[in-house]
Amino acid sequence: MDCIFCKIVAGEIPSNKAYEDDTVLAFYDLEPQAPVHILIVPKVHIASAAEITPENSAVIAHIFEVAAQLAKEKGLDDGFRIVNNCGEGAGQSVKHIHFHLMGGRTFGWPAG
Ligand code: 5GP
Ligand code: ZN
Repeated sequence: MDCIFCKIVAGEIPSNKAYEDDTVLAFYDLEPQAPVHILIVPKVHIASAAEITPENSAVIAHIFEVAAQLAKEKGLDDGFRIVNNCGEGAGQSVKHIHFHLMGGRTFGWPAG
């Protein structure tokens, strides 16, 4: 499958890793939008949040545990943002589900 995040998970494309275990990989975004900008992905290919089911949702819960741990490790004590873009209309450019963990600056709402 021609999926860049599957290739990053497989080590075929290099990445700057922030965390890894059996089911999850976290790596630094190539074009950071905040002082800390980490992408957290399941190792298994799930195309988007629209594809989450009772059968595959455990890894999504685990991603949020990893996000909380990374936020602590990176000192994001003032707050952080977890973003998932689902579908092209919402700005999803890579069709392998990923959660942006961003921190180290203030954020506007709903955008920015
Ligand atoms: P999306 O727009 O799909 O929510 O987020 C995709 C993110 O992946 C973007 O922030 C983009 O900078 C990042 N990205 C795309 N290709 C690569 C890559 O090869 N390596 C890394 N580390 N990040 C990537
Ligand atoms: Zn994939």
